[in-house]
Amino acid sequence: MRPRKIPLRKCVACQEMMSKKELIRVVRTPDEEVLIDLTGKKAGRGAYLCGKVECFKLAKKAKSLDRALKQTVGEDIYDGLEREFIKVQDTFIASRDRNDDDDEA
Ligand SMILES: [Zn+2]
Repeated sequence: MRPRKIPLRKCVACQEMMSKKELIRVVRTPDEEVLIDLTGKKAGRGAYLCGKVECFKLAKKAKSLDRALKQTVGEDIYDGLEREFIKVQDTFIASRDRNDDDDEA
């Protein structure tokens, strides 16, 4: 059996390295929209956050997404994302717990 490499990504808020499936991806689409991407497959520049609202709040305060996405993210966008983040959090945690076998990187 070959050892499987788990791709690690860094949470833009707390700077912790984690496997992709433990992180929520935020993407800046080619249309310059900033969205939460639970599939992890949307085209665009991505930033990762752990699936915790505390981390989102940290990112908002420090404007970490602006830096990670290389785009100014307005206060209203952060507010919208925060609501979305809270909404998807349960789904995210549920799906993460369900897929405890490794998926392909
Ligand atoms: Zn974090």
